[in-house]
Amino acid sequence: MSASAPSVAVSTDLPPVRGKLTPRAPLAPLVWFKSGGAAQWLFEPKDADDLADFLRALDSAVPVMALGLGSNLIVRDGGVPGVVVRLGKAFAKVEAIDAAALRCGGGASGILVSSTARDAGVAGLEFLRSIPGTVGGFVRMNGGAYGRETGDILVECDVVLRSGEVVTLDAAALGYSYRHSRLPEGAVVVSATFRGQPGESTAIQAEMDRIAAAREESQPLRSKTGGSTFKNPNGHKAWALVDEAGCRGLALGGAQVSEKHTNFLLNLGEATSADIEALGEEVRRRVKDKSGVELEWEIQRVGVQSGAMQ
Ligand SMILES: Cc1cc2nc3c(=O)[nH]c(=O)nc-3n(C[C@H](O)[C@H](O)[C@H](O)COP(=O)(O)OP(=O)(O)OC[C@H]3O[C@@H](n4cnc5c(N)ncnc54)[C@H](O)[C@@H]3O)c2cc1C
Repeated sequence: MSASAPSVAVSTDLPPVRGKLTPRAPLAPLVWFKSGGAAQWLFEPKDADDLADFLRALDSAVPVMALGLGSNLIVRDGGVPGVVVRLGKAFAKVEAIDAAALRCGGGASGILVSSTARDAGVAGLEFLRSIPGTVGGFVRMNGGAYGRETGDILVECDVVLRSGEVVTLDAAALGYSYRHSRLPEGAVVVSATFRGQPGESTAIQAEMDRIAAAREESQPLRSKTGGSTFKNPNGHKAWALVDEAGCRGLALGGAQVSEKHTNFLLNLGEATSADIEALGEEVRRRVKDKSGVELEWEIQRVGVQSGAMQ
């Protein structure tokens, strides 16, 4: 596991903050793959005003990236130049605001959102039980499962733009498509309102249990992984194309294509992010050769390669 500082560093004096600002912060412990380098700076804001003030004062040349649970990320081994923003406890609250809607902090987990919805008798958000991410990640990625996705339930979200301006965006403004939004670069989602419909708590719990059991059976949930590696191409299932190309169990360095679910890559223990990314590229090559289909990465790959120019 590498935790080197970003090799393409941005030199700058950073504005004062009320939250926590850590230089050269290892990101591997914070992401599901448990690989990759350090953030040049990791910022955990005290609240949304702290984040907005900081971004307003920060040199506009410094890149900014939000980090949730790192469940859909490869952080490259050379680390992430600039500032990585991670939302802590102050952003993890979820509350019902009427009989069918919840106001959720951008750092709240899918499990917290779905269980709060159950307790408040709000149905239609059960699918979030199965996606191991935060509200900010769901909004950005249009996270979805079992026939529903974030775009179906999002009313609006509060976003701190890279400039420090705070705006409220609705689902139309985010231009949702499959696992994609038009959230601007460097923007951080600090809260979101999700709407379902009134439901009965026992039935909601039963649906959450059904989803959890289905997940357990089909996905390597206790592994170092990044979720679905490739988007499903139109008319195809990515896992089936990977399987047909003979990649089930294919290994490279310390990385392997999951035997259980062929659209998942695994860190078997000591994989570098370069191993994981190279394995993904090898799978893409073999699938193209076999079926002619070009798989598109769903996992976000961020940062710089180890040894990138200073
Ligand atoms: C075992 C497993 C199963 C999975 N199953 C599913 C599934 O069924 N469906 C599905 O859609 N995904 C699935 N995923 C992928 C992942 O959980 C989702 O993409 C999730 O939305 C990522 O959320 P996160 O908060 O961890 O984001 P991260 O992985 O930390 O980041 C992903 C992207 O979101 C951005 N981001 C994160 N937080 C914010 C924020 N506050 N504001 C702005 N941008 C932000 C990041 O900059 C990055 O671009 C799975 C992953 C794993 C490991």
